[in-house]
Amino acid sequence: SIVVTGASGRLGRLVVEGLLARVPAAEIVAVVRDRAKAAEFAARGVEVRVADYSAPDSLSGVFGRGDRVLLISGSEVGRRIGQHRAVVDAAAAAGVSLLAYTSLLGAPATPEDFILAEEHKATEAMVRDSGLPYVLLRNGWYHENHTAQLDQVLASGAVVSSAGDGRIASASRADYADAAVAVLTGEGHAGRAYELSGDEDWDFAEFAAEVARQSGREVALRPVTPEEHRAALLGAELPEPVADLMVNIDSAVARGVLARRENDLARLIGRPTTPLAEAIGTALKG
Ligand code: NDP
Repeated sequence: SIVVTGASGRLGRLVVEGLLARVPAAEIVAVVRDRAKAAEFAARGVEVRVADYSAPDSLSGVFGRGDRVLLISGSEVGRRIGQHRAVVDAAAAAGVSLLAYTSLLGAPATPEDFILAEEHKATEAMVRDSGLPYVLLRNGWYHENHTAQLDQVLASGAVVSSAGDGRIASASRADYADAAVAVLTGEGHAGRAYELSGDEDWDFAEFAAEVARQSGREVALRPVTPEEHRAALLGAELPEPVADLMVNIDSAVARGVLARRENDLARLIGRPTTPLAEAIGTALKG
């Protein structure tokens, strides 16, 4: 079987859809922590198994010998090392034939103070040490991280950023999902670490200009210092850890951590990545 964890998430759903287009539903297993969220997949013949990364016991029996597994990294930042450890241990105990993990672009080379990278680095080490055939899908940034907040950008006319002219080689979730599907259904990927990012990169001034162009509204970059950024986020009533994480991300972007590099993504999916302008257009229509 091909087993996808985090199958109820936005990336996971796209991966399961991509698999359904390529292999019989009976070969696909969706692992979710809330069965109700996978009802639609179950109705289409996908096997649904329930497990929580935080409950190691729930993971025993989720994987079978010879399965190809995609571990989609969890969303609870700060708790993921133990959670991913439990999933990797369960996969190793089962003897799966491939363990693919959604890591972060350039993970091993990211600065030590980049909060988001820490758990990915630790998980990569676990995956490598598991003794299982593995693939590291080092996903870059999603367009959707930015296009999901266009209402707010249009209402305020400002893109607030402390990333300076740091560039981001983002791609759509669907692009990263296609890459995962290619690895799960293809051959010859074991032992590889793919750096997955968009074909083009952009900075926040260009992002603001593109939103302005397509919406016909006045939108401009409002560059702020990290201190001002933090204060603005706290002022917008974001919890302190979230504000700190967002400022930390911009500081990494300023240092080029998410910028363009070698392009495994377009190669893996056999087509160019989705342009940011297209994602902005889709979001504005939505
Ligand atoms: P989502 O938040 O939409 O999905 C996360 C998935 O992980 C959900 O299915 C969620 O289950 C599942 N999950 C979280 N915690 C647990 C747990 N304890 N046990 C079992 N399942 C769990 O994120 P995306 O799909 O958009 O992205 C996938 C992952 O990529 C994220 O989880 C995060 O690690 C990373 N990410 C990457 C970004 C990027 O730009 N490259 C940006 C943001 C995140 P449930 O549906 O029950 O909540």
